[in-house]
Amino acid sequence: RYIYMNGEYVTEEEAKVSVFDHGFLYGDGIFEGIRVYSGNVFRLKEHIDRLYDSAKSILLDIPMSKEEMIESVVNTVRKNNLKDAYIRLVISRGKGNLSLDPFTCHHPQVIIIVDKIKLFNEEMHEKGLKIITVPTRRNTPDALNPKIKSLNYLNNILVKIEAHLAGVSEALMLNGEGYVAEGSGDNIFIIKNGKLYTPPSYLGALEGITRQAIMDIARRLGFEVLEQPFTRHDVFVADEVFLTGTAAEVIAVSEVDGRMIGNGSRGPITKALLNEFQKLVKEDGIQ
Ligand code: PLP
Repeated sequence: RYIYMNGEYVTEEEAKVSVFDHGFLYGDGIFEGIRVYSGNVFRLKEHIDRLYDSAKSILLDIPMSKEEMIESVVNTVRKNNLKDAYIRLVISRGKGNLSLDPFTCHHPQVIIIVDKIKLFNEEMHEKGLKIITVPTRRNTPDALNPKIKSLNYLNNILVKIEAHLAGVSEALMLNGEGYVAEGSGDNIFIIKNGKLYTPPSYLGALEGITRQAIMDIARRLGFEVLEQPFTRHDVFVADEVFLTGTAAEVIAVSEVDGRMIGNGSRGPITKALLNEFQKLVKEDGIQ
């Protein structure tokens, strides 16, 4: 495995970050998760745009252009010789002193890791996930805006812990007002009477690239898609529920807080959307 670090390729053993790196000390940094399907990097431009937006928002100067970043990602994938993979692009503020002050950090660390990814198997897709809602709330845009894909994922980790303690693998966060926001690392859609609903990102959700791809696909298939606030109740009484994300793709949800969704397995629209998504990822990407 070759890991890209600041313009060089190093082995996993050589890929070391300083204990004075503010990414480590304070979670001061940003990241992206990107997929490679059959040698195509899916929606790379969109991921790079989101990365640079996250950087701008936290006043982090990425020491290279978007074009150079795209080239570095593509080259790292090629060097690792993987046709189907997951890319983790991390930029930390870099090494500074022990104070919070980011202006003591002069060299952001740019790291690209390419790895294999474990998918949900076909049985899990058909059965759907049992999930819960958890007490941990999604921070609202007045705090650290969830649109920033920052290295501060403690909220999301608490969600994972709460899910794990309840014996499920994924969970939903509500925002401070009790509206459904998103999963720990994925966006949520519900389907009611043939219409799709997903929370608007201002409620406290990342503007997922898979979310956007699914909204585009659904509209192309003739479904109405609404970015509209909804509550746990709306999720419980939905005909279908699914989650979207770079890692999760489009995964059905069959139970939420003990309430069975639809007939308790993947619904037909969710299945059709995953089908179309799988076609799209093969056609649409940077080789
Ligand atoms: N929400 C959060 C908090 C995430 O970390 C992710 C993962 O990237 C998503 C949603 C899904 O976004 P995307 O489809 O761009 O991977």
